[in-house]
Amino acid sequence: MFEVNNIDGVNLEENPVIAQMSQYNHEQLLFCNDNATGLKAIIAVHNTVLGPALGGTRMWTYNNEMEALKDVLRLSRGMTYKNSISGLNLGGGKAVIIGDSRKMKSEAYFRRFGKFVNSLAGKYITAEDVGISPIDMRWVSMETNHVVGLPGKSGDPSPVTARGTYVGIKACAKEVYGSDSLSGKKIAVQGVGHVGEYLVQYLSKENAEIYISDIHGPSLKRISDKYGAKIVAPDDIYDIDMDIFAPCALGGTVNDDTLSRLKCVIIAGAANNQLADENIHGRVVMEKGIVYAPDFALNAGGVINCFSEVEGLPESWALAKADEIYNTISEIIKRAMKEQRPAYEIANKMAEERIEAISKIKLPM
Ligand code: NAD
Repeated sequence: MFEVNNIDGVNLEENPVIAQMSQYNHEQLLFCNDNATGLKAIIAVHNTVLGPALGGTRMWTYNNEMEALKDVLRLSRGMTYKNSISGLNLGGGKAVIIGDSRKMKSEAYFRRFGKFVNSLAGKYITAEDVGISPIDMRWVSMETNHVVGLPGKSGDPSPVTARGTYVGIKACAKEVYGSDSLSGKKIAVQGVGHVGEYLVQYLSKENAEIYISDIHGPSLKRISDKYGAKIVAPDDIYDIDMDIFAPCALGGTVNDDTLSRLKCVIIAGAANNQLADENIHGRVVMEKGIVYAPDFALNAGGVINCFSEVEGLPESWALAKADEIYNTISEIIKRAMKEQRPAYEIANKMAEERIEAISKIKLPM
């Protein structure tokens, strides 16, 4: 059930919840249950040193509660790092709803969830994530003001995520080739969903040679026709001759198998948790001489867009802030090369350094 059975002398099987929270110093968990609607959810607040914890709500058919707990703990910590390295005054949080998003949704279900979010009095701000639609979030917003990314407000974050990913890829190119031009570079975009398609649009404007894969056929054909991208079968994407691999589908695609096949010099994409095991594969990537843009730093455009809504800032601010991802990625790569350490380690350290510095000037919420 657990990857480790013992943390600092605490047996996880006997103390599964608080011991797991203490592994990465999570501040608070809220377990939510409502028999009337069938709602079962967990809200995790990882760290609020920088500000209220912002992170989306994911609805998923977890096999058991422990799987949901692990997911919410991991995702909320990731949000702390993403918000910190992006220079946002936001902490990290996330919510998971245990359930089938095709069967269990109703107005009452999401309004009940909204009441739970509201009970945290602004310590946690929610948004959409996997399995959650704008309609669901409208219902949540009937019971709490602590929601962002609603239609008519900052809206779909994907275009801003794609823009940040694009400028971050350029920053990687600058370090590798001495120029950030992507013209003529062979770039494989895995997953052409919300973010992937906008990324392909940016890349095509720069005359990159684009390869795309997706498990959803119709969107592939449309995007291929529109941007002149070449279609590759999902499993073949790792074997093609390419300069840059841009994972924009699911996590875990940089692993033992794919690293033995990938011939790229840069890995930089929007997908969360690309490294199957960051301690192992982050180092293998470095040893193979591949420049890796840590995902949480590269894909921060979405949360930057959400933050603009929290603060009432214009879209132009969000776009300019997303463009700063270029400098963040450059700094990570330069430090990684200088210190001969994996890029993800440097990015984690940069995020932790900011939290540490700010924690000295103010107390957590
Ligand atoms: P999406 O669901 O719109 O798109 C994902 C695409 O990947 C889909 O078209 C899907 O068919 C495809 N896919 C799934 N498995 C695949 C496989 N094995 N091979 C090829 N294609 C596959 O999601 P999205 O919003 O575009 O997000 C993409 C990734 O970026 C996710 O990992 C997400 O967590 C991350 N991300 C998104 C945002 C955002 O603003 N949407 C922000 C930060 C991070």
